Amino acid sequence: MPVSAAASAREILTRLHDVMAARSPAQAKLNQVVEIIGEALDSEVCSIYLLREGVLELFATRGLAPEAVHVTKLALGEGLVGTIAEQNEILNLDEAASHPDFAYKPETGEDRYHSFAGVPIVRRERSVGVLAVQHADPRRYADIEIEALQTVAMVLSELIANAGLIDQGGPKDRVQSTATVRTAGQKLVDGMAAGYAVFHQPRVTIEHTVAEDTEAERHRVYAAFDKMREQIDRIAREAEFGVGDEHQEVIATYKMFAYDEGWARRINEAIDSGLTAEAAIERVQQRTRQRMRQIDDPLLADRMHDLEDLSNRLLRIVSGQMGTAAQLGLRQDTILIARNLGPAELLEYDRRRLKGVILEEGSLTAHVTIVARAMGVPVLGRVRDVRRTIAEGDLLLLDVTEGSVLVRPTLPMEEAFDAKLVLRQKRKAAYAALRDLAPQTRDGHRITVMVNAGLRDDVAALDVTGADGIGLFRTEFQFLVSATLPQRERQQRLYREVLDAAGDRPVVFRTVDIGGDKALPYLVSDDAEEENPAMGWRALRLALERDGLMKAQARALLEAAAGRTLNVMFPMVSEAWEFDEAKALFEAQRNWIASRGRRLPNEIRYGAMLEVPSLAYQLDLLLPRVQFLSIGTNDLTQFLFAADRANPKLAERYDWLSTSILRFVKLVSDQARAAGVPVAVCGEMGGRPLEAMALIGLGIERLSITPAAVGPIKAMIRSIDRARLGERMTALLAQPPRDFRGALSEWATGEGVELA
Ligand code: PEP
Ligand code: MG
Repeated sequence: MPVSAAASAREILTRLHDVMAARSPAQAKLNQVVEIIGEALDSEVCSIYLLREGVLELFATRGLAPEAVHVTKLALGEGLVGTIAEQNEILNLDEAASHPDFAYKPETGEDRYHSFAGVPIVRRERSVGVLAVQHADPRRYADIEIEALQTVAMVLSELIANAGLIDQGGPKDRVQSTATVRTAGQKLVDGMAAGYAVFHQPRVTIEHTVAEDTEAERHRVYAAFDKMREQIDRIAREAEFGVGDEHQEVIATYKMFAYDEGWARRINEAIDSGLTAEAAIERVQQRTRQRMRQIDDPLLADRMHDLEDLSNRLLRIVSGQMGTAAQLGLRQDTILIARNLGPAELLEYDRRRLKGVILEEGSLTAHVTIVARAMGVPVLGRVRDVRRTIAEGDLLLLDVTEGSVLVRPTLPMEEAFDAKLVLRQKRKAAYAALRDLAPQTRDGHRITVMVNAGLRDDVAALDVTGADGIGLFRTEFQFLVSATLPQRERQQRLYREVLDAAGDRPVVFRTVDIGGDKALPYLVSDDAEEENPAMGWRALRLALERDGLMKAQARALLEAAAGRTLNVMFPMVSEAWEFDEAKALFEAQRNWIASRGRRLPNEIRYGAMLEVPSLAYQLDLLLPRVQFLSIGTNDLTQFLFAADRANPKLAERYDWLSTSILRFVKLVSDQARAAGVPVAVCGEMGGRPLEAMALIGLGIERLSITPAAVGPIKAMIRSIDRARLGERMTALLAQPPRDFRGALSEWATGEGVELA
């Protein structure tokens, strides 16, 4: 028996190298491979099964009956071979027949053999075949022999893929290739979608497994390690300023792995065995994955996840495959999978092809979620272990309403999903029928329902939903999708198009809210990274300081709205004087345009967003100055509860239906009403039926919500009696129940309120 795993594998790989380089047909190569492996591992039998049309077919054998080749076939999950392929796991048995999954195939004549070892042949994280050895004496194969088999299986995957011997992972073949899994997550953007898994940071496909020059491969890995360590050090340095505890922990783990000598040594050993740098990294990762699978410890599983990430990073560096899926061209019906995304990263994707997003992190009011909502893309967040359960190209049925995703569904599951989708479409059609009906309560109160928008195409939502206008146009979205700062002309063009499309319906343009999690690479603070960007130099704070940016935007807005009404709203106003300054800046631009005899808007209405709690204590100063007010509950909630809106750990901790938020909104709304200033709610809270109901119960009469919510919110409004609701809310707020949501929901059910 060979002395070491590396030596054993190297001996085989050297011989395989010659086979692979030869110009013989693929079948002849496979025949040679089984001979080489059988001999090297001193096994009477060596067989290769490959997945073809969803079935494992015996392709080559040494030792089994030659007539069985291309005749013996096993379904996935059938027999030992089928089990290995389905479970993607190794079997090493001294007595094959005593294993519960053993299935005897008489045509092979394998009854003489007792011991059995098999490993999956994996291509793009999916079993595409099985390499098995058998022996007459009952003996277990040694670990190093299994190691050698795995290394050979890796090389085989290259050989058979190049020869086109296997199913090339067309979506239909994939579906059948492993078991169905259902995983749960948090509902971030409601919706359903069927599509194929695409990783935001794709896994590297390994093209060559056998090294031509081992020393050259070693140098490639060293260089990649250096580069990866540099990257991790940089991230760690930046993180010292930037992020919270959880991230610090993750980064510390990354650093530990990046500098782990054991990891580097194992990769080196795999290179010694004759693999290329890429194959060696992957081989070591496979092995670690296998070991970890046997340990049932959630903490370790998290660490494994970090190591997977890092290993993938190393692979991407060594292979030079650095782009994200957005840059690599997207397939139709993509369901994008990522640990987390920034809003700008999401906007890089072609929204016609992007059907859904699955995030391992994510939270309800993070901007990436808002952007996805604006794009009409359902998002499921906080899904654990995606890399382990989902492989690139898997068919996924994403059902955010249920809070789950089905991975590799069966046909009946697909049919049930389609049926549900049809029902959903019907419901949508029912909402669409409300398009021309006014959002009026049963007792005759007309509520103004507007939509939030930010992209040019969003404006179409006005006609589709029959909304009363755009209550929040997030102008920074144009900045987020651009690689460079959008020039004034481009801004103006967008604003004009939006106003044209809106016709006589009002549009409230919010001036740029950049910073926080809406960072722009071309517009950064001169100082070091901010420790707390959501509370940092963002929105109006940034705009008043970098006033060139704000002036250009003011000009663009004023000129775009020539001859019409311009509604301008400033974000993150924390004190009344900030509003004054922003307005003065606009007025100066107005005067400048007027001095040149150019046409101005007929009317300019200025408003402020109330999303920083401090402003609530200056309402007596602010209200006489503004024409309207809009409560941004997304930021407001994070500041009121001191809970980062993008932190997944806090995602479910505080409820919008809590006494503090509701009392706060009532305070603001009552004062605004007394001052005769219309007040709207434009945060995500207003787009949820029960929450919107509560807001109306507090006296809110204007909502600006995500377009998809207009139908359900209208249905809710048309089913309530506002007077009764108001009484109920007053009573609840006077003596708040611990479970505010429960109490409201119970009341709504009793009243027959329509809550989608
Ligand atoms: C808000 O904070 O509630 C809001 C509407 O603004 P944004 O989500 O864009 O920060
Ligand atoms: Mg905000």
